[in-house]
Amino acid sequence: MMAALDGNLPVRAAAIGDLIMGLARISEPDRPYTRRAFTPLFLEGRAFLAAAFRAAGLETRIDAAGNLIGRRRGKKAGLGTIMLGSHSDTVPEGGRFDGIAGVAAALAVARALEENGVRLDHDLEIVDFLAEEVSIFGVSCIGSRGMAGVLPDGWLSRQAGELTLRQGIIEAGGDPSRLAVSKRTDIRAFLELHIEQGPVLEAERCDIGLVTAIAGITRVEIVVEGRADHAGTTPMGRRIDALAAAARLVTGVETIARRLSDGPTHFTATVGEFSIEPNAANVVPSRARLLIDARAEDRARMDSFLDAVRALVGAVMAETGAEIAAPKVISDNPPTPSDLILIDALDTACMQLGAKRRRMASGAGHDAAWMARITRSAMIFVACRDGRSHAPDEWADTDDITLGAAVLYEAVRRLDKTLQEIGTDGTYS
Ligand SMILES: [Zn+2]
Repeated sequence: MMAALDGNLPVRAAAIGDLIMGLARISEPDRPYTRRAFTPLFLEGRAFLAAAFRAAGLETRIDAAGNLIGRRRGKKAGLGTIMLGSHSDTVPEGGRFDGIAGVAAALAVARALEENGVRLDHDLEIVDFLAEEVSIFGVSCIGSRGMAGVLPDGWLSRQAGELTLRQGIIEAGGDPSRLAVSKRTDIRAFLELHIEQGPVLEAERCDIGLVTAIAGITRVEIVVEGRADHAGTTPMGRRIDALAAAARLVTGVETIARRLSDGPTHFTATVGEFSIEPNAANVVPSRARLLIDARAEDRARMDSFLDAVRALVGAVMAETGAEIAAPKVISDNPPTPSDLILIDALDTACMQLGAKRRRMASGAGHDAAWMARITRSAMIFVACRDGRSHAPDEWADTDDITLGAAVLYEAVRRLDKTLQEIGTDGTYS
């Protein structure tokens, strides 16, 4: 399909491929592809990106939260900003495309507008958010939370060795003392392209995923108390085995999650952390702890999951005699639906370009979820090979990213007009 389309696309593939491979070279040599936020390598990658931003004719700066921003002025001052972007930091031994594809695609849009002699009415900004991945400070999405004015105060004094997050943001060129007053109110729309990090688009031979929502994430801890006894002398009928009870919870959670995922909206639940005590061969386990990560596109489904887990706990207690405290919700972030006007513009752009698209939710968190706090926000996905991500063999074809960039380009041109027609409804400022 690409061969037919490529010649007619408004953005150029070569520059996208060059930017991605250029950044890939700035990686820990023994641990490809590692460029974690708050390291000298990250700043080297940033310098490379800033040079590419300037070469595309963008005015380049770092904002208070340490985000790299390139700006292209619009014709009508005061209309506000359309923003495109993603992140350039990686997880340890991550890939070349997670985040980076979105920055490259955004920059390709700015470059194409320049080359095609198109001047928007709105200002256009390309952003590389600081530290989207869980960083050395143990938290994620620092730049986008900062831009949205929702970076928790206490986080700035978090430490990684000698370094505080406050100092880390300063070293990235930001100014944490201005965070409280630098929340953006001028952004009219934010669009992010990202690799899917899952197998669906490739399997369905789809070009573009229109992201309907970023799933909410709820983490639930369950602690099971049994009784430590001699594993050889305590008869099977007279023991309270915390692990045997916890195992029923794990399989029960999986059964509930399979049922809830069998529907039109996204749902997953995973027991990803598990520990037992005393964890010794000849002792009946006295205690087990498990942590559930549950993700839902709609709140009602999450609520039915939590109800079902509570019922499961009651049943396992009755069956095993173990003491199980009520499931404890450790964190609970609601789902973020995409803005319908933006999805409509992206959908129309796909149609215009002949791109095959499908609607889907994002099971992973993204900067776009934080941007949704201050503006209309939406995402598109492009396919990645075998759904692999957060690993060195993560791969997305330049042609697929280029088609995604073309979708952004056409959507931005459309939104430049549409957003003026609907005006500022005040919802986000
Ligand atoms: Zn990412």
